Amino acid sequence: MARPDFPRSLVEFQARFDSDAACRRYLVACRWPDGFRCPACGDAGSYLLAARELLQCRACRRQTSVTAGTVLDRTRLPLPLWFAAAYLVTTHTPGFSALQLQRQLGLARYEAAWTMLQKLRRAMVRPERDRLAGTVELDETYVGGVEEGRRGGRQRDSKKSILAGAVEVRGRGSGRIRLAVVPDLSAATFARFAEAAITPGSTVLTDGWQSFRALSGSYEQRPTVIGDPKNAAKQLPRVHRAFANLKTWLLGTHHGVGAKHLPHYVDEFVFRFNRRRTPMAAFQSLLGLTTQHAPTTYQMLYAAESTG
Ligand SMILES: [Zn+2]
Repeated sequence: MARPDFPRSLVEFQARFDSDAACRRYLVACRWPDGFRCPACGDAGSYLLAARELLQCRACRRQTSVTAGTVLDRTRLPLPLWFAAAYLVTTHTPGFSALQLQRQLGLARYEAAWTMLQKLRRAMVRPERDRLAGTVELDETYVGGVEEGRRGGRQRDSKKSILAGAVEVRGRGSGRIRLAVVPDLSAATFARFAEAAITPGSTVLTDGWQSFRALSGSYEQRPTVIGDPKNAAKQLPRVHRAFANLKTWLLGTHHGVGAKHLPHYVDEFVFRFNRRRTPMAAFQSLLGLTTQHAPTTYQMLYAAESTG
């Protein structure tokens, strides 16, 4: 069977998830990819109670919530509405307003759209957990404040935030990225960022800044930029492209973001970037379906549909 595409339009998407029952089957397939087993007696036989988000064990009749632990828990809104909202937030880069969501879903109340959006966005502002690997470009940049040149040195400007960035080298392109607002330019700060973002033993490409030298204990650290720091954009092109794209997004869409809210926007940017080729994974993350289990594959979606 060919791998199904992520639906290309809201209409196509809604045809796939057209009822509470279809959404429930999908939830079960995502959350128990190896099949549901009763947590009380271990029995593998179960059935979905009609019109409720509960699985009932055939042997002991214990009921298990299908939505507990997801953003859909205790919701009063129909599941297809949630699924459509998650689809819109996943596919409409960059970002989606509550008003747009209200209009697209035909919701009577603005508050309902706003609440849905807040819940869905919570998944995007959780830090990423998987670390980068292979060959990784590492550098830092300033965000916010008045744009000025670096003047050859790394001087702290209190109006700006410092952003550390790491990007996997994939051929001529970029793999996954990690970005984080950091307090200073010290060796300890970059060691902490690298430890959270990059798998030990990876090759890390940096410029000659002294704080990067301390990384050589855990990584094969290669200073690739010699001399003028302006060469960094040429010699570490991927991480500088990520910085530039982030800044364009912050300025263009959000008209600049204050230091207080910057970390959330950075996390949202990273979330979208790292799932740009796997919208189904992004969709599942937004609904909270990947917290307890490995990411669900396209095959599971199909399995859920064909057995349902
Ligand atoms: Zn049981």
